[in-house]
Amino acid sequence: MPKYIFIVGGVMSGIGKGIASSAIGRILKSKGFSVTAIKIDPYINVDAGTMNPTEHGEVFVLDDGYETDQDMGNYERFLGETLPSINYMTTGRVYQEIIRRERNLEYGGKNVEVVPHVPLEVIRRIEEAQKLARADVTLVEIGGTIGEYQNIIFLEAARMLKQKHPKDVAVVMVSYVPIPRNIGEMKTKPTQYASRELNSAGLQADIILARAEVALDQKRKDKIATFCNVAPDRVISAPDVESIYDVPLNYEKDNLGNILCRVLGLSEKTSNLKDWEAFVAKSKNGTAAVPIAVVGKYFNSGDFVLSDVYISVLEALKAAAYHLDLKPDITYLNSKDFEAGTMPLSALDQYAGVLIPGGFGETGVEGKIKVIEYVREKKIPYFGLCYGMQLAVVEYARHMAGLAQAHTTEIQPDTAYPVVMVMESQKENVAKGKLGGTMRLGAYPALLKEGTIAREAYKKDTISERHRHRYEVNPKYVGQLQKAGLVFSGRSPDGVLMEIAELPTSVHPFFLGTQFHPEFLSRPLSPHPLFVAFIKAAGLRKQASKK
Ligand code: GLN
Repeated sequence: MPKYIFIVGGVMSGIGKGIASSAIGRILKSKGFSVTAIKIDPYINVDAGTMNPTEHGEVFVLDDGYETDQDMGNYERFLGETLPSINYMTTGRVYQEIIRRERNLEYGGKNVEVVPHVPLEVIRRIEEAQKLARADVTLVEIGGTIGEYQNIIFLEAARMLKQKHPKDVAVVMVSYVPIPRNIGEMKTKPTQYASRELNSAGLQADIILARAEVALDQKRKDKIATFCNVAPDRVISAPDVESIYDVPLNYEKDNLGNILCRVLGLSEKTSNLKDWEAFVAKSKNGTAAVPIAVVGKYFNSGDFVLSDVYISVLEALKAAAYHLDLKPDITYLNSKDFEAGTMPLSALDQYAGVLIPGGFGETGVEGKIKVIEYVREKKIPYFGLCYGMQLAVVEYARHMAGLAQAHTTEIQPDTAYPVVMVMESQKENVAKGKLGGTMRLGAYPALLKEGTIAREAYKKDTISERHRHRYEVNPKYVGQLQKAGLVFSGRSPDGVLMEIAELPTSVHPFFLGTQFHPEFLSRPLSPHPLFVAFIKAAGLRKQASKK
């Protein structure tokens, strides 16, 4: 019988449910169980693709093209698994399917009701994901916080599944235990209320992961155990840690894996986290810091700086650096500051590498183009992802191929030289405003050219990478750009789409852009070859500057 673990959040959001779920998955996988992970988001949005990253963080893309919450990225990175779209659902997605079926008379004339039909559809999706992965254990993270109106229907799905299979469903509540500064004491009451709120949804936590600034003392553990109705050894202390990668190792200190096995009636097994431990050790050993500038635009929310927006890029940089026994020292620079001239381009000199990640729209575009021109001329290693590649092509066209007014039609539809333009297949979508889930999305193959940085890095001639874009290098200008020295080292198998652009190492140490998003395939234990190549080049610049 397959087992299910629901991970729910108490007290407040943003306390690391996604990392908790990922870490539990890693531990159970290391015990030899097959594991899959599902994320449920309570939004009406059918997928995460229509949400502004400053609202919701990074939009992650799966192999099959589904645009999801960034937690799917955390799961893939921690589990080392490729997850399908059935593993991600929102309220909108669930209702869309129910309404589709109702319109097709698939409910056989019945009243279609929020309860039970919505939770039944949620359970159907959970069971389908389990079957597809042949998972011994399926983790289901319910977004939001217990007590919110929005996620109650998903808690109802958990309750119904548990009612059907009482021995095979566990509930883990990730809660927060604050230490108000003026009180100076750790307070468990919010967790008690969250637990009671969970009870009123018909669920009882089997395990409570108590997030806090510091470790829980025995007194607080006992209090939570008594008032939240769990055994004291099932209250797990989850203090803030230096790195998210410490989390599975810390949980194992409290024996969380085997406690879960006991709850679910699985035979207890020893965990084998050796590869993970080695990675964590490497992440702490790297002494030489490589300063990297990430130039983007989605950084601010009110007065707060967001780093979640580029989380996969950040994790990919870290994985590559650790692999090379280096440490990335990442600074986020706002392209608008270069555009306005409030930050001089010479500020880039101090970095060993500059990366421009994906993006949309006009804001900061000319700033990014200025940055690209500068790093190309100053021979600072440059890595452009998606928009970062398209704008590198625009920059090269303007300054090296004699196409002074070149642009992408995303910004200037009537440009004299549309070197980046909307794909033919996309024109109708744009004209009709069909913008949700219609980009070029998901994994596509590409062929690599011999004797290029890309071919050297991947060490193979065919690759598969994940995409999320509507615009493409215009095939009409490929010849002219090549003549001017730009190398298209990766192309779609039919040769029409330019997937990688780079400069020969004889003219620049590392200048490379990808139409796809390599960051989505980087994993801690298998860093992405292009990120490794970029960090290697950055490391060399750093060394040279020391001399
Ligand atoms: N805005 C560009 C496009 O739609 C690039 C998208 C991206 O960087 N993900 O093609």
